Amino acid sequence: MVVKIGLLGLQGDYAKHSKVLSRLGLLSVLVRYPQQLSNVQGLIIPGGESTTMTKLIKATGIRQPLLEFADQFPILGTCAGLIMMGNQQGDKRVDNLSILNVQVERNAYGRQIESFTDNLVVNYGNREEIIPATFIRAPQITATGPEVEVLAQYRHQPVAVRQGRHIGLTFHPELDDVTLFHQMAFCSR
Ligand code: GLN
Repeated sequence: MVVKIGLLGLQGDYAKHSKVLSRLGLLSVLVRYPQQLSNVQGLIIPGGESTTMTKLIKATGIRQPLLEFADQFPILGTCAGLIMMGNQQGDKRVDNLSILNVQVERNAYGRQIESFTDNLVVNYGNREEIIPATFIRAPQITATGPEVEVLAQYRHQPVAVRQGRHIGLTFHPELDDVTLFHQMAFCSR
């Protein structure tokens, strides 16, 4: 079976994800409208700006279809994508989807200039892998529910989490050609 993954292409940095997916032998296609979700078996909500994404999710009517999709198929959210997948937080301009039971604080490391790359240790199953991780005006995960598995921490805070079939990351694996999380989300089912 050929698996096709949707890239929520409303706004933000989605193009590089298709390169990562093709390295894993997965096809990808942009998703902008609700009906396009019926052609894909997984979805990436990319980085970008969660306030802008909120407006576009509302304008396209894709919110409820996204929630129904999440009941059946895996979603990988990176940075702003993770913010969208988390629980409602302090900023009322963001209408979070609550797909992951995590509390997320936007822009928690400061402004653009505080963006950085560092190494992370990822733990999954009984395996461990060291990967580079680029954080760009990144959020912080400030609390996780009991059903949330922490895959990696940075400075004692979770930065990669998994809940059931879904994965959320505060950083951008696609910028460092890291395939691990795309593989975990879309290849190991
Ligand atoms: N700061 C952005 C937001 O709050 C996220 C940044 C990113 O996705 N790289 O939505």
